[in-house]
Amino acid sequence: AKAEHKSAQRFHDSEMDARLLERDMIERELRAAVANGDIQPFYQPLIDLRTQRVAGFEALARWIHPTLGDVAPERFIPVAENCGLIEDLSYHLLRQATRAATSWPDDVVLAFNISLLQLSDKTLGLRILHILGESGLPTQRLEVELTESALVRDPEAAQITLGALRDAGVRIALDDFGTGYSSIYHLRNFKIDKIKIDRSFLRRVGEDSDASTFLGALLGLGHGLGLTVTAEGVEDAAQAAALAEQGCEQAQGFLYSDPMPVDATLAFIARQSGA
Ligand code: C2E
Ligand code: CA
Ligand code: CA
Ligand code: CA
Repeated sequence: AKAEHKSAQRFHDSEMDARLLERDMIERELRAAVANGDIQPFYQPLIDLRTQRVAGFEALARWIHPTLGDVAPERFIPVAENCGLIEDLSYHLLRQATRAATSWPDDVVLAFNISLLQLSDKTLGLRILHILGESGLPTQRLEVELTESALVRDPEAAQITLGALRDAGVRIALDDFGTGYSSIYHLRNFKIDKIKIDRSFLRRVGEDSDASTFLGALLGLGHGLGLTVTAEGVEDAAQAAALAEQGCEQAQGFLYSDPMPVDATLAFIARQSGA
């Protein structure tokens, strides 16, 4: 039994080593990628469920590495946060994305993800507004998405940053809504404009009645508070129909499109508006 334990331990260690090695490699490669601007935003449309038109695009970071292949943001964003690269990376992405957004029609917004570590930087709000100013994109066309964990980590800094952005006209969206442990608490304490219902709530919608009950409750909460509601992870027409029937404003997911490169965005907008 002891030998068995030992070999299990060794297996565990080598697995950890592999993970550390990967992290190490990603960190090294990431420094170069950030410096060279090799990480670019892709854009996934937010669809207005009443008109089927494009209401906005969410910018999602894409790193296409020559040898590592496509590295998912869930693998490199945490590394970027840990090794102090998240700010450079994020401002680079925001510059690209605001530039892209100025080519879209005036009623199409840009949704941009802010990482939880960034929120404790009290200059974040000003820096975002500065980049917006440079691009010429009106503040009303930016939506900042953050998860609840960002609000939990440093509520005071969050109040300051979000206050500054909101006063300037930027909208604030709570991402992955329903998955945090204190969602409703944050709705009371932060001024938020929108919730994005996490895709886990969409999974069985159209199939079982509990799923629809949950969705209805989340929509009721959002609408009761005067918020816009976007459903994430919409993959089939039955889900979209259920959402439209329950009065959800916007949908996002593979049903409409994968995240696309900037060059494809204008054609997608035209297609959805029937032009
Ligand atoms: P998120 O903000 O919740 O973004 C939505 C994720 O769901 C994206 O994954 C998107 O590609 C994926 N998705 C979209 N439609 C569907 C669908 O119908 N079904 C399923 N199963 N998935 C769908 P992605 O691009 O891999 O990004 C993962 C996460 O990485 C994002 O989650 C966000 O938290 C983070 N992220 C991405 N880009 C950035 C960035 O520029 N800055 C920061 N701070 N975080 C980012
Ligand atoms: Ca998001
Ligand atoms: Ca989300
Ligand atoms: Ca997520």
